[in-house]
Parts: sequence; C-alpha cells; structure tokens
Amino acid sequence: MNAIDRAVVADLTEAERTRILAKTARFAPPPAVLADGRRELVGLSRDELAAVLADVGEAAFRAKQVWHWIYHQGATDFTKMSTIAKPTQAKLAEHFVIGRPEAAVVQTSTDNTRKFLFRFRDGQEAETVYIPEEDRGAVCISSQVGCTLSCRFCHTGTQTLVRNLGAAEIVGQFMGARDSYGEWPSPRGESPRLLSNIVLMGMGEPLYNYENVAKAMRIVMDGEGIGISRRRITLSTSGVVPMMDRAGEELGVNLAVSLHAVRDDLRDEIVPLNRKYPIKDLMAACRRYPAASNARRITFEYIMLKGINDTPEDARELVRLITGLPAKVNLIPFNPWPGSPYETSTSAAINKFSNIVMDAGFSSPVRAPRGRDILAACGQLRTESQRTRA
Ligand code: SAH
Ligand code: SF4
Repeated sequence: MNAIDRAVVADLTEAERTRILAKTARFAPPPAVLADGRRELVGLSRDELAAVLADVGEAAFRAKQVWHWIYHQGATDFTKMSTIAKPTQAKLAEHFVIGRPEAAVVQTSTDNTRKFLFRFRDGQEAETVYIPEEDRGAVCISSQVGCTLSCRFCHTGTQTLVRNLGAAEIVGQFMGARDSYGEWPSPRGESPRLLSNIVLMGMGEPLYNYENVAKAMRIVMDGEGIGISRRRITLSTSGVVPMMDRAGEELGVNLAVSLHAVRDDLRDEIVPLNRKYPIKDLMAACRRYPAASNARRITFEYIMLKGINDTPEDARELVRLITGLPAKVNLIPFNPWPGSPYETSTSAAINKFSNIVMDAGFSSPVRAPRGRDILAACGQLRTESQRTRA
C-alpha cells in the first residue's frame, strides 16, 4: 500500500470506529448512583476518583488511600479503612458506596469451575466463570448483557443485546469472584495463586463495548490495586477489525480471535460479523496487532463442529492463514446447549486436525471443556435478562 492508500484506510477505520462507538452509546449502562444519591466508587478512573473526593473537600492524597482500600484490600465498608480518621470515614459513607454486583446464583462444577450469576443494580444479569488450574486460575468476564452478534454455535448469541456493562460492573465481576475465594488483599510481588488471570471471554463482544472494557482493564492493571499485568489478560473478539488496533495500542493485552472457519462462505454463516469484516481484513488486523510477539502470541480460537469445519483441508487452510504470524491455535470442542444446532467433532477428527496444525509448527492444544455440567463452558452462558423499551 502506498502512503495515500494507507491514509484513506486510516480515515475509513477512524470513521468506522466513531460509528461503532456512537452505536454502543445507545446501550449504555445506567449511571452508577444509588436511589439515595450516593455514588459508586468502583469503576472510576484514578482521576475521576480524585475529582469526586475533591468535590466533598478531600485532598488528593485521599484518593490514593481510598484506591488502596478498594482495590488492594478489597474493602467494601468505609469503617474498615483504618488509616482514615473516623469522621472522614463517616463523611465518605454519606456520599459514596463501594459496591459489588449481587451474586444471585453461585454454582460449582464437579471439576471445581465456579459460575456466578451476577445481578446489577437495575436487575439485569450476566454470568462470570472462575476456572481454577493447579497453581493459578482465570476469571472469565462478561462485557455485555447478551450480544448483538449471533454466532450460530453460541448460546449468548441467542440472547439479543440488552445493554453494555459499565466499568464498575466489569471490574465488579472480578472483585465479586475474588470475594468468593477470599483472595484479598491483592497479592503483591508474587502473582496471585487463585485469581491470577483474566479472560474477556464471557457474554458479549468486548470490542463493541470498548470504552467500558478499556476503563475496567486499566483499573485491574493498576499496580497499586489489583495489579494484574497485561500479560495475564486476554481479550477475545469475534473480529471487530477497526477496534483491534486501538485495543492493542492502548491496552496491550493478549489477543484471542474467534476464527472458527477458514473460508468466507462458511464464516459468513457461522460468525455473521464476517460479512462486514471478512477473513482477509481480520488477518491483516492480526498482522498489525501491536501487542503480539513471539513471546505473546495471538490465540486463534477454533471451535470443532462435526462435519462443518473439521476436515484436514480446513486444518491446512488454517495453517496457510496464520503462517508468518506469532500464533497459537486453541481447538475448542463444541459445547452443546439446550436447542443447539451442532454436534462436537469426533476425537479422531480433532486429533487429526490438531496434528496437522502442530506439524506446521504451531502449538495447537485441544481445550478440555470445563464446567459443562453447570453450563459454564465456552459459549454456554446466557441469562434471562431482556431489553426493556427505552
Ligand atoms: N464475543 C467474543 C468473546 C466471547 S469468547 C468472541 O466471540 O470472541 C467465547 C469463546 O467461546 C469464543 O471463541 C466463542 O466463539 C466460543 N464459543 C461460543 N460458543 C461456543 C460453543 N457452543 N462451544 C464452544 N465454544 C464456543
Ligand atoms: Fe457474541 Fe462471541 Fe457469542 Fe459470537 S461467540 S454471539 S460474538 S459472545
């Protein structure tokens, strides 16, 4: 591409980005203020926290202290903030709250995966899953209630988008899960043992709620609070091409791409967003992704659907697409849900597929389903929330 073409592409991308952000504003979360007028502090950036505290006459150092109590100590009660004088604690409690989404249902799978149904202040609900591993664990966080995209294999895709989650609700899912395991204060120096990683792989498309997701990730990455490094955070997208560069530049988190098909005709059908951003554009965005390197590869998620996308030919085409990229492939056996239209590929087909990808030099593990018995595995999340008329 010459410089002029590149400038035209950049302008188009910017226009498309503006359009996406304007559209997502229609699904904005309600303001984080209680009926009695008290303001939620979780979800504010450091600057915003300092500003609301200044509004009630507090000096800048107070924001640092309060931040520490909220995100390092996990405090939800101002009276526990022992470094703050009692009268100030009382004043803060008069104006502010430190909330958590309500854990309306908590289920633990036979494999110890734990699923939370979180209810937010307006009654809308989303699910969060904690997936423990031997010496660490990932919290799978939702970014939206429902999803605008309707990937054919995904349970969330059968629930129309109700609304975006706010930064408080996104961080709140992590904090609520951490409460459940009692892993406060946030471990310092060494990494947390239990809730060590975050995957934005729950309900919704994170890049269609970019501003709130970005704000929430900046909060969890802050070293004076929860302190989870960008290397331990993975954002999964179905391929919102214009937002991918921005996420890479501004957040620098790991990228996972829900590829699932290697030809446009099939991908158009099972991941309908492909009609807007076809495979060629998606792969180009992956090649540009700033936070990818050999040490931090892009994960290509590939669902194994019996008789649909699981032939050796598909595997060879996949290799062709990712050649030259710092990439790994995650093969996900299809997880069924009530009424789902597909079947999981046979183990023989999955192994053959995996071997072809591995022989080409790419790591290609088959993801063991976790929490299927409580509908907590990839693609099984859904809630009863519905969009009410504005
Ligand atoms: N919307 C984002 C984030 C959700 S991540 C995205 O699509 O990437 C959830 C992952 O599980 C995605 O890779 C998704 O394609 C995959 N998935 C969806 N339904 C599934 C199912 N029934 N079985 C296995 N994986 C599924
Ligand atoms: Fe939405 Fe992702 Fe499910 Fe597709 S796979 S419907 S983008 S949550």
